[in-house]
Amino acid sequence: MKGRKLLMIPGPIEFEPAVLSMMSKPTTSHVAPDFIESFGSCIEMMRKVWQCPSGQPFIVGGTGTFAMDMAGSNLIEPGDNTLVISSGFFGDRFSELLKRYGAKVDLLTPEIGNVVTTEEIENALKQKKYKLLTFTHVDTSTSVKINPQPIAALGKKYDVLTILDGVCSVAGEEIKQEEWGIDIVLTASQKAVGVPPGLALLVASPKAMEAFKNRKTPVGNYYADWGNWLSIMQAYEGRKPSYFGTPPVNLVFALEVSLKIILKEEIDKRFKRHNTIASSFRAAMKALNLKIIPANDAIAANTLSAVYLPKDVAGTDFISAVSAAGVIIAGGLLKDSKPYFRVGHMGSVNQTDILGTIGAIETALKKCKFPFTPNAGIDAAQQLLVVNY
Ligand code: PMP
Repeated sequence: MKGRKLLMIPGPIEFEPAVLSMMSKPTTSHVAPDFIESFGSCIEMMRKVWQCPSGQPFIVGGTGTFAMDMAGSNLIEPGDNTLVISSGFFGDRFSELLKRYGAKVDLLTPEIGNVVTTEEIENALKQKKYKLLTFTHVDTSTSVKINPQPIAALGKKYDVLTILDGVCSVAGEEIKQEEWGIDIVLTASQKAVGVPPGLALLVASPKAMEAFKNRKTPVGNYYADWGNWLSIMQAYEGRKPSYFGTPPVNLVFALEVSLKIILKEEIDKRFKRHNTIASSFRAAMKALNLKIIPANDAIAANTLSAVYLPKDVAGTDFISAVSAAGVIIAGGLLKDSKPYFRVGHMGSVNQTDILGTIGAIETALKKCKFPFTPNAGIDAAQQLLVVNY
């Protein structure tokens, strides 16, 4: 017995052994030469992973919600009109968060499993002058993925700053921040970036930094204020010591290892691997007659899948049975939806992980007396994996 289960929730995920072993290195000073080198190199590598050569990366201790706080608090001034394009739980969170900084928020929300259309977004932008819009690349509550490119183009057309919540997408779904013209792309360490929870990460465009510098009012969040952090990021990049708040030293060392792994794999190959794994998982669910929440495959994420439970199967029984079969998956997050479960498949996930997960799901369905053709899921996934992996 290995004594541990496979963690297939949408974050934290399974981490690379090299990342985990770096976490156990004795903690050094935040001004030690090797730490300064590591931090500086993380900043440089983030520009490559985000595909934003002229962006300003920020690495600050905190969660994904704090990355949202950092983006919102530095760009919003009281009374600013803001458009939040939601596709579930985390879009709604962004709306609440921005209001704390005095934003006047209009929220666009689609039906569960769908996306707000580009036409709807353009209509809203025509009606009011907005300073900022936010959109969620992959909403982890629904596994719905939006296409950021046309929304970023609308941001440019109407001169609106754009913030992409990429917590469940950065390093797993294609993002070309600079080419697509997105002002902020933010994430957290525990998802496809592949580092244990605790780092809020974002890259800001020159336009976002300009908007920050032109503020008339102080940032409404002391810890998040770029006025405190910008010089720290610049110092580390210039390989100089500095201090504002003690950085999570071990996490930054681990980030360096993970970013190196990501760049070594090559970012486009990494996106393709996520797509292959996700497509094979969706094919398996279809073969088992289980329906995913996204209305169609074009808006289904490659980093996780949210799947409706069969009518007569109770969520807690099912998830416990999958766990008994050795795999940890997650329950649903939306209260007003039919019951569903979620499987994360991002980061270092491989075909053995996904086949093991599908096998555990089949075992659980059998235990819950749900009828299906034996091995139908595994077989459907294998058919895609043998061609594409
Ligand atoms: N946005 C999205 C899309 C997320 O998936 C999450 C976390 N699941 C968050 C924001 C918040 O991140 P955290 O839990 O790290 O605060």
